[in-house]
Amino acid sequence: MLYSRRHEKYRNSKTRTKDWQELSRRLDEDELKYQSARCMDCGVPFCQSDTGCPISNIIPKWNELVFQNQWKNALLKLLQTNPFPEYTGRVCPAPCEGACVLGINEDPVGIKNIECAIIDRGFEMGWMIPTPPEVRTGKKVAIIGSGPAGLAAADSLNKAGHLVVVYERADRIGGLLMYGIPNMKLDKSIVQRRTDFMAAEGIKFVTGTHVGEDIKLSSLREQNEAVIIATGATVARDLPIPNRNLDGIHYAMTFLHANTKSLLDSTHEDGKYISAKGKDVIVIGGGDTGNDCIGTAVRHGAKSVVNFELLPQPPNERARDNPWPQWPKVYRIDYGHSEVKARYGKDPREYCVMSKEFVSDGGGKVKGINTVRVEWARSSRGGWDMKQVEGSEQFFPADLVLLSMGFLGPEDRVLGDIERDARKNVKTPPGAYSTSMPGVFAAGDCRRGQSLIVWGINEGRQCAREVDQHLMNTTQLPVSGGIVHRAPVTAEILGRAERVPLQSIAIAAA
Ligand SMILES: Cc1cc2nc3c(=O)[nH]c(=O)nc-3n(C[C@H](O)[C@H](O)[C@H](O)COP(=O)(O)OP(=O)(O)OC[C@H]3O[C@@H](n4cnc5c(N)ncnc54)[C@H](O)[C@@H]3O)c2cc1C
Ligand code: SF4
Repeated sequence: MLYSRRHEKYRNSKTRTKDWQELSRRLDEDELKYQSARCMDCGVPFCQSDTGCPISNIIPKWNELVFQNQWKNALLKLLQTNPFPEYTGRVCPAPCEGACVLGINEDPVGIKNIECAIIDRGFEMGWMIPTPPEVRTGKKVAIIGSGPAGLAAADSLNKAGHLVVVYERADRIGGLLMYGIPNMKLDKSIVQRRTDFMAAEGIKFVTGTHVGEDIKLSSLREQNEAVIIATGATVARDLPIPNRNLDGIHYAMTFLHANTKSLLDSTHEDGKYISAKGKDVIVIGGGDTGNDCIGTAVRHGAKSVVNFELLPQPPNERARDNPWPQWPKVYRIDYGHSEVKARYGKDPREYCVMSKEFVSDGGGKVKGINTVRVEWARSSRGGWDMKQVEGSEQFFPADLVLLSMGFLGPEDRVLGDIERDARKNVKTPPGAYSTSMPGVFAAGDCRRGQSLIVWGINEGRQCAREVDQHLMNTTQLPVSGGIVHRAPVTAEILGRAERVPLQSIAIAAA
């Protein structure tokens, strides 16, 4: 089904209620100026180097421009390295801030908030205008999967003048931006706005099409000069303990996907979601996924919410083996945790808990989990050994259990004979994106394993560069953090017509 028809449906649906409205904090003008002025432009910008932003955003430069009130120029700079700042500015964990020099002895610069403010202003002021390429190369590229990796690749390849079609098996575009991260963390109208923008620039979106079932990878390859697999790492880790088959035990993504779909389709009136209302909920596993389950269960009106973590509570300060400018592995309070504390009076997290068996209510439904506490000690091999603590057995009541223990890699169906690496991800040469099937490339979580949106964007852009090189024997698409060249590729190189200059942005003239 063509995307535009779905879009009309989306437009007409009542999408939000107050509880599901976006949580992200918008800084006012004074705060933004204050934050941008705190940037010291340190000389060695750790925030944008290997230790910081994976797409090498040119952070000190936008800070300076924001401070000088040159918002449009700041937008120009930002869009050179990041095609989707409205996503990262809202939901990136901001490794840049972990690497900010100020963070050594005080709060780092609020980089992520500034990023978000720049792009939000760009849309609000009408500076973001779709700009389709002026010349098409005539080369066709199919992209499977519409998450950040697929979208970033589509954006770059379209700008390079290729004809791009994105195939998505879900009914809406965005991958985990749409159906993983809940609405209150990333408002779906923002995902929709970007998809509309890209469609207006000439990218075609086909939803409801499962490659591997509705159409084969080999057929796509025959119909296109190149194919990119960007299908994510969607195989969830299971918990194969006794009574796993009881009713009421679900994978986190089953819960989150159905919740957002029902919210967007009918403001939950169709009832086609797993409700946590009035239930004792246990979320097994943490991270973004676990936290999103917690926040969603709170909004449903759960009776109680508990979150099991197998590992111990992280330290409040950086450990000695985790120095600046590395990503700080410290105790954090995310929105789900603070909401549970506010509503039920206690942080939901229970550390060093191992689930031993699910307990049945006698009628096929889960009524709780038998657990035991564990201890962690340094092993003689330098790693960690886990030991169960005798006498620490405990029963936790639950009528809804959500499994959020990470993802094992991409699904088999689309991949066929494509080679995998030892971790079951799509195998590519080191630092490259080509797979074992000629003309087929891979990017994002299906290649590097479960990761972050900003890494997905980086993969998509770098993969697009390799595809462009493969198609044209040359490329002007930027390397990570690279500045876009403005000189057009000549007619000789293109072999057809002068190729479109690689404007990376679409900003109205002043
Ligand atoms: C619940 C949750 C919350 C997260 N929160 C954050 C966060 O706050 N910040 C952050 O930085 N990262 C977060 N992440 C991680 C981040 O979302 C992912 O790393 C990122 O989305 C990966 O991008 P991707 O494009 O590789 O894959 P995905 O976003 O997974 O997209 C893959 C797409 O491919 C489609 N697809 C799969 N197979 C086929 C097929 N055969 N045919 C057609 N289409 C197919 C899927 O339907 C999906 O739409 C979160 C992850 C989860 C699960
Ligand atoms: S994308 Fe993430 S790491 Fe990069 S500047 Fe934005 S918030 Fe920081």
